[in-house]
Amino acid sequence: MSDKSFLAWPFFEARHRELSEQLEAWCRTELPRDHSDVDATCIQLVRDLGKAGFLEGTAGEHIDVRSLCLIRETLARHDGLADFSFAMQGLGTGAISLYGSDEQKLWLDRTRRGEAISAFALSEPRSGSDVAQLDTTAERDGDSYRLNGEKTWISNGGIADIYTVFARTGEGPGAKGLSAFLVPADTPGLEIRELLESVAPHPLARLGFNDMVLPASALIGQPGQGFKIAMSVLDVFRSTVGAAALGFARRALEESLSRSRFRELFGATLADLQMVQGHLADMALNVDAAALLVYRAAWTKDQGAERVTREAAMAKLFATDQAQQVIDQAVQLHGGDGVRKGHIIESLYREIRALRIYEGASDVQKVVIARSILAEE
Ligand SMILES: Cc1cc2nc3c(=O)[nH]c(=O)nc-3n(C[C@H](O)[C@H](O)[C@H](O)COP(=O)(O)OP(=O)(O)OC[C@H]3O[C@@H](n4cnc5c(N)ncnc54)[C@H](O)[C@@H]3O)c2cc1C
Repeated sequence: MSDKSFLAWPFFEARHRELSEQLEAWCRTELPRDHSDVDATCIQLVRDLGKAGFLEGTAGEHIDVRSLCLIRETLARHDGLADFSFAMQGLGTGAISLYGSDEQKLWLDRTRRGEAISAFALSEPRSGSDVAQLDTTAERDGDSYRLNGEKTWISNGGIADIYTVFARTGEGPGAKGLSAFLVPADTPGLEIRELLESVAPHPLARLGFNDMVLPASALIGQPGQGFKIAMSVLDVFRSTVGAAALGFARRALEESLSRSRFRELFGATLADLQMVQGHLADMALNVDAAALLVYRAAWTKDQGAERVTREAAMAKLFATDQAQQVIDQAVQLHGGDGVRKGHIIESLYREIRALRIYEGASDVQKVVIARSILAEE
């Protein structure tokens, strides 16, 4: 049984505890899923999460970040692919929720019901961490824009129904000259150039935009607002990456506790060895500390803070880095089983790694935190 004592923390309200119970019951009957065809599994997971009502809070005027974090933590604890499928519905539509027109927001009804899948297309071969130097262009041509360029590492690439695409429109240099666009997947000119495989497989692709013509109504927000839009979306969703890491870490700790209690060696159980107790204590400490940072960031945003850049960066950095440590300790405590293909600990070891890279690598989060505290008087 997973530790739920954190739900009594003052960050949460009764509705969060109810949500946690409902989702836990759903996970017990629905997860884990078969990962042999990740595209098909993700499509089905989005449909099922939508039908069960869990995608309701992923988009719209008011996004409750605590609920998103709670859902990501819980899903990650049961099945990494379920967490991924849930997370992308919010990230892929975040720009529309925050800056979209009424017409663009019609898509949100479909993504919340799980009938349409969304993707967030920012990264490019030459610009991952350095977003401001992206090369994809959107040239104004009368009442339309002409989109040309390439995006890479795009989650849900190939299965998404809509993409939020960031491109250079040239209102100013670097970050000042970017805009965001809503691109339905059936727009002529979209090419899936390569399907990418990662250590924890999920739908990922490199996309090409070949002279794609978009109506001016595809622009999200104002011309030149693209960088601000991307950063505000990440501001909302970055703490949720920490929450997913927390879910993976919690599962690793639970599995380690259970194994330590029954595994016998040297005439006692693993749990009787003090050095093992030291590992378990470190793991529990890091899990609780990560939870405090994640839910502090989520609560702060939910209280109406316009930006939570520092809090979200701290939550993401600490929770992902520490989850890696916790899972590595779990591998050690599981001995050979920890690296056996198909074992839960082996899959957690693969699942956690990319979280320290995407939505701002750990080193980038340190820069963000330092800039933020240096700017304070
Ligand atoms: C599994 C996965 C899913 C992804 N999904 C998406 C998606 O859906 N949409 C999307 O747009 N992108 C996505 N990405 C891309 C991701 O956001 C980028 O990989 C990430 O921003 C890093 O960019 P990069 O790979 O180009 O590495 P680089 O930018 O080349 O950075 C490499 C390393 O350099 C170091 N570094 C970078 N900048 C600094 C700095 N300022 N100070 C100190 N060190 C630094 C960091 O250690 C960093 O990891 C995904 C990536 C992965 C792996």
